[in-house]
Amino acid sequence: MIRRDYLIIGSGIGGASACQGIRRYDKRGSVTLVGAEVFPPYKRWILSKSFLREKSPQLKKLQEPVERWFQTHKIETRFGTVVTQFNIERRLAVLTNGETIEFNKACLAMGSRPVRPPVAGVALGNVIYLRTIRDALALREMASLEKTLMVVGGGLLACEAAASLRMMKMKVGLMHRDSYLLNRYLDAETGAWLTEYFAKHGVTMLMGESLNGFEGKTVLRNIQTKSGNRVPAGLAVIACGAEPNLDLVRNTPLSGPHGSPVTEYLETEEKGIYAIGDLAFYPDRIMGGMRRQTHWDNARDQGFIAGANMTGKKRIRYEQVPHFWTEMFDLRMDFVGDFSVLPTRVDCRGSYAKKKFIARYYQADKLRAILLCQQPPREVESAKTQLRHALGK
Ligand SMILES: Cc1cc2nc3c(=O)[nH]c(=O)nc-3n(C[C@H](O)[C@H](O)[C@H](O)COP(=O)(O)OP(=O)(O)OC[C@H]3O[C@@H](n4cnc5c(N)ncnc54)[C@H](O)[C@@H]3O)c2cc1C
Repeated sequence: MIRRDYLIIGSGIGGASACQGIRRYDKRGSVTLVGAEVFPPYKRWILSKSFLREKSPQLKKLQEPVERWFQTHKIETRFGTVVTQFNIERRLAVLTNGETIEFNKACLAMGSRPVRPPVAGVALGNVIYLRTIRDALALREMASLEKTLMVVGGGLLACEAAASLRMMKMKVGLMHRDSYLLNRYLDAETGAWLTEYFAKHGVTMLMGESLNGFEGKTVLRNIQTKSGNRVPAGLAVIACGAEPNLDLVRNTPLSGPHGSPVTEYLETEEKGIYAIGDLAFYPDRIMGGMRRQTHWDNARDQGFIAGANMTGKKRIRYEQVPHFWTEMFDLRMDFVGDFSVLPTRVDCRGSYAKKKFIARYYQADKLRAILLCQQPPREVESAKTQLRHALGK
Protein backbone atom coordinates (compact mmCIF):
# COMPACT_ATOMS: atom_id res chain seq x y z
CA MET A 1 0.00 0.00 0.00
CA ILE A 2 1.24 3.47 -0.95
CA ARG A 3 0.68 6.20 1.67
CA ARG A 4 0.51 9.87 0.79
CA ASP A 5 -0.26 13.09 2.66
CA TYR A 6 -2.01 14.50 -0.40
CA LEU A 7 -3.67 12.88 -3.39
CA ILE A 8 -4.76 14.99 -6.37
CA ILE A 9 -7.07 13.30 -8.86
CA GLY A 10 -7.08 14.89 -12.32
CA SER A 11 -4.11 16.53 -14.01
CA GLY A 12 -5.75 19.48 -15.71
CA ILE A 13 -4.93 23.05 -14.70
CA GLY A 14 -6.97 22.62 -11.49
CA GLY A 15 -4.96 19.59 -10.33
CA ALA A 16 -1.66 21.21 -11.32
CA SER A 17 -2.52 24.40 -9.42
CA ALA A 18 -3.55 22.40 -6.36
CA CYS A 19 -0.01 20.95 -6.33
CA GLN A 20 1.39 24.47 -6.54
CA GLY A 21 -0.86 25.65 -3.70
CA ILE A 22 0.29 22.75 -1.51
CA ARG A 23 3.97 23.32 -2.21
CA ARG A 24 3.72 27.00 -1.44
CA TYR A 25 2.86 26.20 2.18
CA ASP A 26 4.09 22.63 2.69
CA LYS A 27 7.50 21.88 1.20
CA ARG A 28 7.78 18.36 2.56
CA GLY A 29 4.43 16.55 2.55
CA SER A 30 4.16 13.64 0.11
CA VAL A 31 2.00 14.47 -2.93
CA THR A 32 0.79 12.28 -5.80
CA LEU A 33 -0.93 13.72 -8.87
CA VAL A 34 -2.89 11.13 -10.89
CA GLY A 35 -4.18 12.01 -14.34
CA ALA A 36 -5.96 9.99 -17.01
CA GLU A 37 -4.27 11.79 -19.89
CA VAL A 38 -0.75 10.77 -20.86
CA PHE A 39 0.33 14.37 -21.34
CA PRO A 40 1.39 16.43 -18.33
CA PRO A 41 -0.95 19.36 -17.52
CA TYR A 42 -1.33 21.67 -20.49
CA LYS A 43 -3.09 24.80 -21.73
CA ARG A 44 -6.34 23.17 -22.75
CA TRP A 45 -7.78 26.47 -23.93
CA ILE A 46 -5.33 26.63 -26.82
CA LEU A 47 -6.73 23.48 -28.48
CA SER A 48 -9.58 25.29 -30.23
CA LYS A 49 -7.42 28.28 -31.10
CA SER A 50 -3.87 28.50 -32.49
CA PHE A 51 -3.15 24.78 -31.88
CA LEU A 52 -5.54 23.85 -34.69
CA ARG A 53 -4.08 26.42 -37.04
CA GLU A 54 -0.35 26.04 -36.47
CA LYS A 55 1.56 24.08 -39.11
CA SER A 56 3.45 21.89 -36.63
CA PRO A 57 2.40 22.61 -33.05
CA GLN A 58 4.97 21.80 -30.39
CA LEU A 59 3.42 19.84 -27.55
CA LYS A 60 6.12 20.85 -25.07
CA LYS A 61 5.18 24.50 -25.42
CA LEU A 62 1.68 23.74 -24.18
CA GLN A 63 2.74 22.50 -20.75
CA GLU A 64 1.41 24.46 -17.78
CA PRO A 65 3.44 24.38 -15.61
CA VAL A 66 6.47 22.88 -17.35
CA GLU A 67 6.78 19.19 -16.47
CA ARG A 68 10.11 19.82 -14.73
CA TRP A 69 8.29 21.78 -12.01
CA PHE A 70 6.81 18.56 -10.61
CA GLN A 71 10.22 16.94 -10.37
CA THR A 72 11.95 19.90 -8.76
CA HIS A 73 9.12 20.16 -6.21
CA LYS A 74 9.15 16.43 -5.47
CA ILE A 75 5.63 15.74 -6.64
CA GLU A 76 5.03 12.19 -7.82
CA THR A 77 3.08 12.18 -11.08
CA ARG A 78 1.11 9.29 -12.52
CA PHE A 79 0.00 10.35 -15.99
CA GLY A 80 -1.97 7.99 -18.23
CA THR A 81 -3.50 6.54 -15.06
CA VAL A 82 -7.15 6.57 -13.99
CA VAL A 83 -8.40 6.46 -10.41
CA THR A 84 -11.06 3.76 -10.64
CA GLN A 85 -12.29 3.64 -7.05
CA PHE A 86 -12.46 6.17 -4.27
CA ASN A 87 -13.26 4.97 -0.77
CA ILE A 88 -14.21 8.02 1.25
CA GLU A 89 -14.42 6.35 4.68
CA ARG A 90 -11.12 4.48 4.45
CA ARG A 91 -9.42 7.26 2.48
CA LEU A 92 -8.26 4.91 -0.24
CA ALA A 93 -7.98 5.34 -4.00
CA VAL A 94 -7.47 2.46 -6.44
CA LEU A 95 -5.59 3.06 -9.71
CA THR A 96 -6.02 1.37 -13.09
CA ASN A 97 -3.00 -0.84 -12.46
CA GLY A 98 -4.54 -2.12 -9.21
CA GLU A 99 -2.28 -0.10 -6.92
CA THR A 100 -3.94 1.48 -3.89
CA ILE A 101 -3.08 4.85 -2.42
CA GLU A 102 -4.03 5.65 1.16
CA PHE A 103 -4.27 9.40 1.55
CA ASN A 104 -4.69 11.89 4.31
CA LYS A 105 -6.25 14.65 2.18
CA ALA A 106 -7.51 14.57 -1.40
CA CYS A 107 -8.53 17.02 -4.10
CA LEU A 108 -11.02 16.05 -6.78
CA ALA A 109 -9.98 17.81 -9.99
CA MET A 110 -11.53 15.53 -12.60
CA GLY A 111 -12.88 18.39 -14.69
CA SER A 112 -15.53 17.85 -17.31
CA ARG A 113 -16.20 15.96 -20.52
CA PRO A 114 -18.17 16.77 -23.65
CA VAL A 115 -21.92 16.20 -23.56
CA ARG A 116 -22.85 13.45 -26.04
CA PRO A 117 -26.16 14.23 -27.72
CA PRO A 118 -28.55 11.25 -27.54
CA VAL A 119 -29.02 10.86 -31.31
CA ALA A 120 -28.30 8.15 -33.88
CA GLY A 121 -24.84 7.96 -35.45
CA VAL A 122 -22.74 9.63 -32.73
CA ALA A 123 -20.33 6.68 -32.85
CA LEU A 124 -19.61 7.08 -36.59
CA GLY A 125 -16.04 7.77 -37.65
CA ASN A 126 -15.57 11.48 -38.36
CA VAL A 127 -18.02 12.57 -35.64
CA ILE A 128 -15.66 13.97 -33.05
CA TYR A 129 -15.39 15.98 -29.85
CA LEU A 130 -12.74 18.48 -28.83
CA ARG A 131 -11.50 18.16 -25.25
CA THR A 132 -7.97 16.75 -25.21
CA ILE A 133 -4.70 17.07 -27.13
CA ARG A 134 -5.50 13.73 -28.74
CA ASP A 135 -8.88 15.05 -29.94
CA ALA A 136 -7.22 18.16 -31.35
CA LEU A 137 -4.53 16.15 -33.16
CA ALA A 138 -7.23 13.89 -34.62
CA LEU A 139 -9.29 16.90 -35.70
CA ARG A 140 -6.28 18.44 -37.44
CA GLU A 141 -5.64 15.22 -39.35
CA MET A 142 -9.24 14.61 -40.35
CA ALA A 143 -9.85 18.24 -41.31
CA SER A 144 -6.95 18.05 -43.76
CA LEU A 145 -8.68 15.12 -45.53
CA GLU A 146 -12.29 16.34 -45.62
CA LYS A 147 -13.89 19.03 -47.71
CA THR A 148 -17.06 19.82 -45.78
CA LEU A 149 -17.06 20.26 -42.08
CA MET A 150 -19.94 21.00 -39.71
CA VAL A 151 -19.67 22.28 -36.16
CA VAL A 152 -22.70 21.41 -34.03
CA GLY A 153 -23.37 23.88 -31.20
CA GLY A 154 -23.36 27.64 -30.71
CA GLY A 155 -21.41 28.12 -27.49
CA LEU A 156 -17.82 29.23 -26.89
CA LEU A 157 -16.14 26.03 -28.03
CA ALA A 158 -18.31 25.71 -31.16
CA CYS A 159 -17.57 29.30 -32.18
CA GLU A 160 -13.84 29.00 -31.55
CA ALA A 161 -13.54 25.72 -33.44
CA ALA A 162 -15.59 27.00 -36.39
CA ALA A 163 -13.52 30.21 -36.56
CA SER A 164 -10.17 28.38 -36.40
CA LEU A 165 -11.16 25.84 -39.06
CA ARG A 166 -12.49 28.59 -41.29
CA MET A 167 -9.23 30.53 -40.85
CA MET A 168 -7.56 27.40 -42.25
CA LYS A 169 -9.62 28.03 -45.42
CA MET A 170 -11.94 25.08 -44.87
CA LYS A 171 -15.55 24.94 -45.90
CA VAL A 172 -17.18 25.24 -42.50
CA GLY A 173 -20.83 25.16 -41.47
CA LEU A 174 -22.19 25.82 -38.00
CA MET A 175 -25.50 24.39 -36.82
CA HIS A 176 -27.12 25.89 -33.74
CA ARG A 177 -30.61 25.44 -32.35
CA ASP A 178 -30.94 29.05 -31.20
CA SER A 179 -31.30 32.10 -33.42
CA TYR A 180 -27.95 33.59 -32.48
CA LEU A 181 -24.48 32.53 -31.26
CA LEU A 182 -23.43 32.51 -27.59
CA ASN A 183 -27.11 32.89 -26.62
CA ARG A 184 -26.30 31.63 -23.10
CA TYR A 185 -24.19 34.74 -22.53
CA LEU A 186 -25.01 37.51 -24.98
CA ASP A 187 -27.97 39.85 -25.39
CA ALA A 188 -29.89 39.44 -28.65
CA GLU A 189 -28.35 42.47 -30.41
CA THR A 190 -24.73 41.56 -29.67
CA GLY A 191 -25.51 37.92 -30.49
CA ALA A 192 -26.99 38.91 -33.86
CA TRP A 193 -23.90 40.99 -34.63
CA LEU A 194 -21.59 38.09 -33.79
CA THR A 195 -23.67 35.67 -35.88
CA GLU A 196 -23.44 38.06 -38.82
CA TYR A 197 -19.69 38.36 -38.23
CA PHE A 198 -19.31 34.60 -38.67
CA ALA A 199 -21.42 34.66 -41.84
CA LYS A 200 -19.27 37.51 -43.24
CA HIS A 201 -16.19 35.37 -42.61
CA GLY A 202 -17.65 32.66 -44.80
CA VAL A 203 -19.07 30.25 -42.20
CA THR A 204 -22.36 28.78 -43.45
CA MET A 205 -24.78 29.46 -40.62
CA LEU A 206 -27.61 27.03 -39.94
CA MET A 207 -29.38 28.85 -37.15
CA GLY A 208 -32.55 27.61 -35.49
CA GLU A 209 -31.76 24.04 -36.56
CA SER A 210 -31.63 21.18 -34.03
CA LEU A 211 -29.61 18.04 -34.48
CA ASN A 212 -31.59 14.87 -35.21
CA GLY A 213 -28.79 12.44 -36.04
CA PHE A 214 -25.75 11.52 -38.13
CA GLU A 215 -26.02 9.35 -41.27
CA GLY A 216 -23.42 7.11 -42.85
CA LYS A 217 -22.37 3.45 -42.95
CA THR A 218 -19.08 3.65 -41.09
CA VAL A 219 -18.18 7.29 -41.57
CA LEU A 220 -20.34 10.39 -41.60
CA ARG A 221 -22.10 11.39 -44.82
CA ASN A 222 -25.02 13.62 -43.78
CA ILE A 223 -26.32 15.40 -40.74
CA GLN A 224 -30.08 15.26 -40.16
CA THR A 225 -31.87 18.18 -38.60
CA LYS A 226 -35.14 18.00 -36.67
CA SER A 227 -36.81 20.14 -39.33
CA GLY A 228 -36.11 17.37 -41.88
CA ASN A 229 -33.02 18.79 -43.61
CA ARG A 230 -30.13 16.54 -44.58
CA VAL A 231 -26.87 18.45 -44.72
CA PRO A 232 -23.87 16.76 -46.40
CA ALA A 233 -20.76 16.71 -44.16
CA GLY A 234 -17.57 14.68 -44.12
CA LEU A 235 -16.63 15.68 -40.61
CA ALA A 236 -18.65 16.88 -37.61
CA VAL A 237 -17.32 18.52 -34.47
CA ILE A 238 -19.80 18.22 -31.63
CA ALA A 239 -19.62 21.07 -29.14
CA CYS A 240 -22.84 20.82 -27.16
CA GLY A 241 -21.54 21.64 -23.67
CA ALA A 242 -19.52 19.97 -20.94
CA GLU A 243 -20.67 17.89 -17.96
CA PRO A 244 -18.71 17.21 -14.75
CA ASN A 245 -16.69 13.98 -14.53
CA LEU A 246 -18.41 12.71 -11.39
CA ASP A 247 -18.44 8.95 -12.06
CA LEU A 248 -15.81 8.26 -9.41
CA VAL A 249 -17.96 9.71 -6.62
CA ARG A 250 -21.43 9.01 -8.06
CA ASN A 251 -24.10 8.31 -5.40
CA THR A 252 -22.00 9.83 -2.64
CA PRO A 253 -22.42 13.26 -0.99
CA LEU A 254 -19.49 14.41 -3.15
CA SER A 255 -21.67 14.28 -6.24
CA GLY A 256 -24.68 16.51 -6.93
CA PRO A 257 -26.82 17.37 -9.96
CA HIS A 258 -24.70 20.46 -10.72
CA GLY A 259 -21.24 19.23 -9.73
CA SER A 260 -19.43 18.44 -6.51
CA PRO A 261 -20.84 20.72 -3.77
CA VAL A 262 -18.17 22.54 -1.75
CA THR A 263 -17.93 25.29 0.86
CA GLU A 264 -16.39 28.71 0.28
CA TYR A 265 -13.06 27.05 1.24
CA LEU A 266 -13.61 24.51 -1.57
CA GLU A 267 -13.93 21.64 0.88
CA THR A 268 -16.66 19.05 0.40
CA GLU A 269 -18.81 17.92 3.27
CA GLU A 270 -16.16 15.23 3.88
CA LYS A 271 -13.44 16.93 5.89
CA GLY A 272 -10.09 16.95 4.08
CA ILE A 273 -11.60 16.22 0.65
CA TYR A 274 -11.75 19.19 -1.69
CA ALA A 275 -13.23 19.71 -5.19
CA ILE A 276 -12.22 22.36 -7.70
CA GLY A 277 -12.45 23.67 -11.26
CA ASP A 278 -14.99 22.38 -13.75
CA LEU A 279 -16.13 19.87 -11.12
CA ALA A 280 -16.92 22.20 -8.22
CA PHE A 281 -20.34 23.64 -7.37
CA TYR A 282 -19.36 26.47 -5.06
CA PRO A 283 -20.98 29.39 -3.24
CA ASP A 284 -20.28 32.55 -5.22
CA ARG A 285 -19.51 35.13 -2.53
CA ILE A 286 -19.42 37.99 -5.02
CA MET A 287 -22.39 37.42 -7.33
CA GLY A 288 -24.46 35.32 -4.90
CA GLY A 289 -25.96 31.85 -5.24
CA MET A 290 -24.18 28.60 -6.07
CA ARG A 291 -22.21 28.27 -9.31
CA ARG A 292 -20.22 25.80 -11.40
CA GLN A 293 -17.87 27.40 -13.90
CA THR A 294 -16.20 25.65 -16.79
CA HIS A 295 -13.48 28.23 -17.37
CA TRP A 296 -9.70 28.38 -17.08
CA ASP A 297 -9.13 31.18 -14.55
CA ASN A 298 -11.66 29.64 -12.19
CA ALA A 299 -9.99 26.20 -12.28
CA ARG A 300 -6.49 27.67 -11.87
CA ASP A 301 -7.40 29.96 -8.95
CA GLN A 302 -9.55 27.36 -7.18
CA GLY A 303 -6.77 24.79 -7.50
CA PHE A 304 -4.28 27.10 -5.87
CA ILE A 305 -6.63 28.03 -3.01
CA ALA A 306 -7.71 24.43 -2.34
CA GLY A 307 -4.05 23.34 -2.32
CA ALA A 308 -3.18 26.06 0.21
CA ASN A 309 -6.17 25.16 2.40
CA MET A 310 -5.32 21.46 2.29
CA THR A 311 -2.04 22.13 4.08
CA GLY A 312 -3.94 23.44 7.09
CA LYS A 313 -1.57 26.42 7.19
CA LYS A 314 -4.01 28.68 5.36
CA ARG A 315 -7.74 29.14 5.32
CA ILE A 316 -8.55 31.12 2.20
CA ARG A 317 -12.06 31.74 0.85
CA TYR A 318 -12.66 31.55 -2.88
CA GLU A 319 -14.10 34.94 -3.75
CA GLN A 320 -13.23 35.92 -7.31
CA VAL A 321 -15.40 37.83 -9.74
CA PRO A 322 -16.25 35.25 -12.45
CA HIS A 323 -14.14 35.89 -15.57
CA PHE A 324 -13.48 34.07 -18.80
CA TRP A 325 -12.37 34.99 -22.27
CA THR A 326 -12.70 33.75 -25.81
CA GLU A 327 -10.97 34.33 -29.15
CA MET A 328 -12.60 33.88 -32.54
CA PHE A 329 -11.26 35.22 -35.85
CA ASP A 330 -9.65 38.55 -34.91
CA LEU A 331 -11.92 39.12 -31.91
CA ARG A 332 -11.06 38.76 -28.25
CA MET A 333 -13.93 39.00 -25.81
CA ASP A 334 -13.76 39.04 -22.02
CA PHE A 335 -16.77 38.17 -19.88
CA VAL A 336 -16.77 39.52 -16.34
CA GLY A 337 -19.57 38.78 -13.86
CA ASP A 338 -22.70 36.69 -14.05
CA PHE A 339 -24.05 35.99 -17.54
CA SER A 340 -26.37 33.19 -16.46
CA VAL A 341 -29.52 35.36 -16.57
CA LEU A 342 -30.30 37.50 -19.60
CA PRO A 343 -30.16 41.22 -18.81
CA THR A 344 -33.23 43.43 -18.52
CA ARG A 345 -31.15 46.38 -19.77
CA VAL A 346 -27.90 46.69 -21.75
CA ASP A 347 -25.73 49.79 -21.87
CA CYS A 348 -23.33 49.40 -24.79
CA ARG A 349 -20.52 51.94 -25.32
CA GLY A 350 -18.34 51.72 -28.42
CA SER A 351 -19.08 50.33 -31.84
CA TYR A 352 -19.88 46.94 -33.33
CA ALA A 353 -18.59 48.18 -36.70
CA LYS A 354 -15.16 48.91 -35.18
CA LYS A 355 -15.37 45.63 -33.17
CA LYS A 356 -14.55 47.57 -30.03
CA PHE A 357 -17.09 48.01 -27.26
CA ILE A 358 -17.99 47.49 -23.63
CA ALA A 359 -21.53 46.32 -22.83
CA ARG A 360 -22.86 46.53 -19.27
CA TYR A 361 -25.62 44.09 -18.40
CA TYR A 362 -28.17 45.08 -15.75
CA GLN A 363 -30.89 43.18 -13.91
CA ALA A 364 -33.36 45.97 -13.15
CA ASP A 365 -30.92 48.63 -11.80
CA LYS A 366 -28.23 46.22 -10.67
CA LEU A 367 -25.04 45.80 -12.69
CA ARG A 368 -24.50 42.02 -13.06
CA ALA A 369 -22.04 41.54 -15.90
CA ILE A 370 -19.69 43.37 -18.25
CA LEU A 371 -18.78 42.19 -21.75
CA LEU A 372 -15.59 43.61 -23.21
CA CYS A 373 -14.71 43.30 -26.88
CA GLN A 374 -11.10 44.07 -27.93
CA GLN A 375 -10.21 45.78 -24.65
CA PRO A 376 -6.83 45.81 -22.87
CA PRO A 377 -6.27 43.87 -19.59
CA ARG A 378 -6.56 47.05 -17.49
CA GLU A 379 -10.20 47.48 -18.68
CA VAL A 380 -10.90 43.87 -17.70
CA GLU A 381 -9.48 44.50 -14.22
CA SER A 382 -11.46 47.73 -13.97
CA ALA A 383 -14.63 45.81 -14.90
CA LYS A 384 -14.00 43.43 -11.98
CA THR A 385 -13.59 46.40 -9.63
CA GLN A 386 -16.75 48.06 -10.94
CA LEU A 387 -18.73 44.92 -10.29
CA ARG A 388 -17.37 44.56 -6.77
CA HIS A 389 -18.32 48.18 -6.04
CA ALA A 390 -21.74 47.82 -7.61
CA LEU A 391 -22.41 44.78 -5.44
CA GLY A 392 -20.90 46.35 -2.31
CA LYS A 393 -18.16 43.65 -2.02
C1 LIG B 1 -10.94 23.26 -26.50
C2 LIG B 1 -11.19 24.05 -25.25
C3 LIG B 1 -11.02 25.44 -25.27
C4 LIG B 1 -11.23 26.18 -24.10
N1 LIG B 1 -11.04 27.54 -24.15
C5 LIG B 1 -11.22 28.28 -23.01
C6 LIG B 1 -11.03 29.69 -23.03
O1 LIG B 1 -10.72 30.29 -24.06
N2 LIG B 1 -11.21 30.37 -21.87
C7 LIG B 1 -11.55 29.76 -20.71
O2 LIG B 1 -11.70 30.43 -19.67
N3 LIG B 1 -11.74 28.42 -20.67
C8 LIG B 1 -11.59 27.66 -21.79
N4 LIG B 1 -11.80 26.29 -21.76
C9 LIG B 1 -12.19 25.66 -20.49
C10 LIG B 1 -10.99 25.33 -19.62
O3 LIG B 1 -10.00 24.71 -20.38
C11 LIG B 1 -11.47 24.43 -18.47
O4 LIG B 1 -12.38 25.17 -17.68
C12 LIG B 1 -10.31 23.96 -17.61
O5 LIG B 1 -9.44 23.17 -18.38
C13 LIG B 1 -10.84 23.14 -16.42
O6 LIG B 1 -9.76 22.65 -15.69
P1 LIG B 1 -9.94 21.43 -14.70
O7 LIG B 1 -8.58 21.15 -14.18
O8 LIG B 1 -11.05 21.69 -13.76
O9 LIG B 1 -10.44 20.19 -15.59
P2 LIG B 1 -9.83 19.51 -16.92
O10 LIG B 1 -9.00 20.49 -17.68
O11 LIG B 1 -11.01 18.89 -17.59
O12 LIG B 1 -8.88 18.39 -16.35
C14 LIG B 1 -9.38 17.27 -15.65
C15 LIG B 1 -8.44 16.11 -15.87
O13 LIG B 1 -8.83 15.02 -15.01
C16 LIG B 1 -8.75 13.80 -15.73
N5 LIG B 1 -9.58 12.79 -15.06
C17 LIG B 1 -10.94 12.68 -15.06
N6 LIG B 1 -11.33 11.62 -14.32
C18 LIG B 1 -10.20 11.05 -13.84
C19 LIG B 1 -9.94 9.92 -13.01
N7 LIG B 1 -10.92 9.19 -12.50
N8 LIG B 1 -8.65 9.60 -12.75
C20 LIG B 1 -7.62 10.35 -13.23
N9 LIG B 1 -7.81 11.45 -14.01
C21 LIG B 1 -9.07 11.80 -14.30
C22 LIG B 1 -9.21 14.18 -17.12
O14 LIG B 1 -8.79 13.23 -18.06
C23 LIG B 1 -8.51 15.54 -17.30
O15 LIG B 1 -7.21 15.38 -17.80
C24 LIG B 1 -11.62 25.53 -22.91
C25 LIG B 1 -11.83 24.14 -22.89
C26 LIG B 1 -11.63 23.40 -24.06
C27 LIG B 1 -11.86 21.91 -24.05
